[in-house]
Amino acid sequence: MEPTLSATSVQAAPTNHSCDINKLKRAFAYKLFYQQGKTVLSVSLNDYYQAVALTVRDRMQHLFINSTEAQLEKESRLVCYLSAEFLPGPHLCNSLINLGFFNEFAIAARETGLDLKAIIDQEKEPGLGNGGLGRLAACYLDSLATQQIPAIGYGIRYEFGMFDQEIVNGWQKEFSDRWLQLGNPWEVKKADLVQEVGFGGCTESYVNGQGNRHHRWVPARVVIGIPYDTPIPGYKVNTVNTLRLWSAEAPKSFDFQDFNVGDYFGAVAEKISAENITKVLYPNDEQFQGKKLRLEQQYFFVCCSLKDMIRMHLFCHDSLDNFHDNFAVQINDTHPAVAIPEFMRLLLDEHCLNWEEAWDITTRTFSYTNHTLLPESQDKWPLSLFGSLLPRHLEIIFEINHRFLDQVRLRYPGDETIVRNLSIIDESGPRSLRMAHLACVGSQTINGVAAVHTHLLKTSSLADFHRLWPQKIINITNGVTPRRWMLVSNPRLSQLINEAIGEAWITDLTQLRRLEPLADDAAFRTAWRRVKQENKEDIAAFARDRHRVTLDINALFDVQVKRIHEYKRQHLNLLHIITLYNRLKANPTLDLTPRVCIFGGKAAPGYFMAKLIIKCINAVAEVVNNDPDTRDRLHVYFLPNHNVQTGHLVYPVSDLSEQISLAGKEASGTGNMKFALSGAVTIGTADGANIEIREEVGEDNFFLFGLSVPEVEQLQATGYRPADYYLSDDELRAAIDLIRSGHFSHGDHDLFQPLLTNLLEHDPYLVLADYRSYVDCQQQAADSYRKREQWTRMSILNVARMGKFSSDRSIAQYCREVWRVKPFPIELKWQRIPEGGIVFPRLS
Ligand SMILES: *Cc1c(COP(=O)(O)O)cnc(C)c1O
Repeated sequence: MEPTLSATSVQAAPTNHSCDINKLKRAFAYKLFYQQGKTVLSVSLNDYYQAVALTVRDRMQHLFINSTEAQLEKESRLVCYLSAEFLPGPHLCNSLINLGFFNEFAIAARETGLDLKAIIDQEKEPGLGNGGLGRLAACYLDSLATQQIPAIGYGIRYEFGMFDQEIVNGWQKEFSDRWLQLGNPWEVKKADLVQEVGFGGCTESYVNGQGNRHHRWVPARVVIGIPYDTPIPGYKVNTVNTLRLWSAEAPKSFDFQDFNVGDYFGAVAEKISAENITKVLYPNDEQFQGKKLRLEQQYFFVCCSLKDMIRMHLFCHDSLDNFHDNFAVQINDTHPAVAIPEFMRLLLDEHCLNWEEAWDITTRTFSYTNHTLLPESQDKWPLSLFGSLLPRHLEIIFEINHRFLDQVRLRYPGDETIVRNLSIIDESGPRSLRMAHLACVGSQTINGVAAVHTHLLKTSSLADFHRLWPQKIINITNGVTPRRWMLVSNPRLSQLINEAIGEAWITDLTQLRRLEPLADDAAFRTAWRRVKQENKEDIAAFARDRHRVTLDINALFDVQVKRIHEYKRQHLNLLHIITLYNRLKANPTLDLTPRVCIFGGKAAPGYFMAKLIIKCINAVAEVVNNDPDTRDRLHVYFLPNHNVQTGHLVYPVSDLSEQISLAGKEASGTGNMKFALSGAVTIGTADGANIEIREEVGEDNFFLFGLSVPEVEQLQATGYRPADYYLSDDELRAAIDLIRSGHFSHGDHDLFQPLLTNLLEHDPYLVLADYRSYVDCQQQAADSYRKREQWTRMSILNVARMGKFSSDRSIAQYCREVWRVKPFPIELKWQRIPEGGIVFPRLS
């Protein structure tokens, strides 16, 4: 276990002179009156939320200013985390906790007659990501700030984030996410830091004054990027980093040229087309969408971000020669990979460096995180589409590829197979750009996100790169932030742990080891179970109030929340539930461990099979929950609209965490870590970070089932026949036949046929092959849950051994092995505005 940087970086909470209770109470009233323009007569809960949020923002402003000024003047490197998605969750509660203000605000709110919990719940979270990838970026921003690493997260300010999901008649319905409608008190628009972004057009070459040939891009249209900054406070440190999200606008709101010649609508159309770029997040998780608008989004935010970095660099340096000493740029998956040719273009065409200099700086600046092995997730742009939007970048990519393949040919003379395999251009079909290859060639370091994933990168998808550059691919297993996923989401368990071992675990998660002896303490186990029980009461109240559903809080809570995807195998979970139902129907007096099965997750709107799985879960729920033979022992609840906010509720109530993807498909997973950190025991396959979780918590405290990666490979190589499993397993056949009979679809035989046909004829994720092992393992888990003291021991040991899975450990590793940066504590130059005001310099 590696030590985290945080041990050295924890320091006392920043002194804050303005968190006196009476001043807070005045500040709420002031914000309501002057910012919201409201009095007691017209005030709404949103007004209260805005007032409280603005009060918090004021109280971190001095930290934010000191941090950003120090970053401009600092001599250390600035980490720039480029990500098309960020899923930070609601800011208010997290900010109160990280700034160390929670108690003062709770008291001030109470004394003002405000309900702080209701105010916290009023916030509409920024859903600017699909799931795990965007959430990881948010956990990393929290850890970067907490470890006092100067960092900026760069992304897109989607006007509409991830859609809101409702369940209507068992089906998913999508509603647009109007997260900005009631105002966003956290962001500050920086209108003076706009950037221009070109699209389309053509390229030219010319000879400059010194007689050298240069190239330039003449775009057909230009769009403006406007940054909106959100502060990211570290936990009880002075560092407040920045999340800078770009919004697209037309250069001028009306093109007077067009207006004068009478083309009023043409001018407005151009404005609308510019604004469209950041209008909406593509809701496809793990699925490449070859849409032009998607490429426009990617290029747009990357171009703005790189120009912003160059602006900052040139603020204190006269040349770009040492850019890489000041910036470390991380490419989160291939979505921002166009940064590599864009940075080359900026250096070559706009800053007039030569190719060798430019390439040297580029490859010392960028690093790339690979997040997936699934073929359908690989970004591959048709050359024609890419070239029509970014003609100069295509030329640069050709040159990068040409020089790279020369190097490959030198190393492997005569081996044209390896040249074809490594090429950035895929010529096997219609020519396309392999963005992963571009990212690999242009980066200093490539990392996978869990040990097994990195191993598969090295041995399969990037095997030829690994052979060429054996040092370049490294592993950094993902982590989650204990601030959000314990302090915010599970305050009761956090409090119990604080009472037992103090607070050091919050920034050094390995300290949780000190809970181990308490697993043998009966009074502690009782207190531990009480926390889980009280958390269950919260979600039961939520289910009752929102969905008129009753949950038995004494039952085993068996939870699978994550995007709905065939590779994640929600349908395997469902086949187990139907099997339990069949057993109960066959033997109504069966002594079954009562179970509440909770599902949650969104399906991509165009993913038919995933939507059918949601319908099937709800169809099974309707039958099981209403049958007097089963409803007291088996309950199925689909928790709608899984996001960070519902995650706060659901991870802490789980007894059993479902991590049942087909081995080799889930790169890491992070939901698995949130569950275990809140005391759930995992039932899971040997996939992603599950393997490392099991290593840490011990095999006795983990329910492992299913095929391993080599067994999956072997079964697929010898010809997998799913129907054989159906024919030879009576319970499996009964479960599938019951769906087919129309039992869950009011007699409709056809409704779920596509799901069943797919399973019986193709079953690409080997659901039927893993069914028996899964069902038997579930039986062990259920038996084990009845031995309450033993189960509680397992739960405590899971938490005690989760130290490795803090995002603080991941970030410490990135800092050491990839970015080579050290913590940079912020001194407070600006504490507060002095009594006599500030004398500002005269601007000419
Ligand atoms: C953690 C998280 C995920 C990722 O979950 P996995 O189980 O790792 O797929 C997705 N969505 C939300 C809202 C999350 O908080």
